Amino acid sequence: MSSRLLSPEEIAVQAGQQVPYLRLPERGTVFAEREMRLRQLAAGGHAMRDFLLFMAELAQAQHGLLQAYPAVALPDAAALDAASRAGLPPLPAEHWPRDAAWRSGLRRLLAALLPRLAGSPALAAVRALQDTHAGDDAWLDQQADRLLTGVMLGLDLAATPLVAAALQVYWTQLVLATQEARGADRLPPFGRTDDATLCPCCGSRPVASISRIGGSDAGFRYLQCALCAAQWHMVRIKCTHCLGTQGIHYQSPQRVGTEARDAKPATEAETCDACGHYLKIVHMERDVNVEPVADDLGSVTLDLLVSEAGFRRHGINLMLLFGDDGTDDGGGG
Ligand SMILES: [Zn+2]
Ligand SMILES: [Zn+2]
Repeated sequence: MSSRLLSPEEIAVQAGQQVPYLRLPERGTVFAEREMRLRQLAAGGHAMRDFLLFMAELAQAQHGLLQAYPAVALPDAAALDAASRAGLPPLPAEHWPRDAAWRSGLRRLLAALLPRLAGSPALAAVRALQDTHAGDDAWLDQQADRLLTGVMLGLDLAATPLVAAALQVYWTQLVLATQEARGADRLPPFGRTDDATLCPCCGSRPVASISRIGGSDAGFRYLQCALCAAQWHMVRIKCTHCLGTQGIHYQSPQRVGTEARDAKPATEAETCDACGHYLKIVHMERDVNVEPVADDLGSVTLDLLVSEAGFRRHGINLMLLFGDDGTDDGGGG
């Protein structure tokens, strides 16, 4: 018998346990938990308090929108089977013909937000979008196209979090409704795709990964989609960009001189020496309330730390785009 420590995956395999590959978002909690975490992060004297509170209001509006979303066109059985056979996500963010409901969803988001933003620095941006572009379907779709294909040129950065919020709710609705419509007598509509670095539902990049506690997925690491919030399994200590397993390190802001040196940080950057990319990982076992989108927004100092060391983000947060997000291959920093 070896005394080597086993990884959670090895323990699970030895026990004959099946790791659930996909965790779909839950309509009642996906945005509500994000809002709660954003408020919690903002309450701790955070340097980005105003921004996090704005994001919390936005998440609350997203929650309201998702609870009563209108019916939207879904992929039929033939399209789902074709995507499955091709190893492709069935609701690809870059190609899916968006329903007009996403734009009316955006207008409802703005209407719900505006009365809640009195005194917020974000009020001007929301009102500007409402007054100048909210009725312009072509402009909104152009912004959505750029955002979903990673084209920074021509993107209205003040409007981006709002456009992104509406797209997130629409895609979450697409995923949930596709799952509900499939019927128990058929194969699940979503499963493994050929590119493990991208969302198996919509093909978007992850925002961050999360190590989970509780239930059948305890101890496992999941990547969370930046767009539809689906989570898919990937073993730990593996680069989420090049899938390499050598030269993986974990970085967090130094806690030199503090009393809390033994308290492990709930958010770290998982960096890869081989390809030079990183993705943040949030640990439920260290803080049960972590939420990938919220904790990514709340840890921008960690991005600065690892980008100074020369690493580039693999993840994307549609609420806060960095200059080097997208498809360019210039050096970051
Ligand atoms: Zn997705
Ligand atoms: Zn790598």
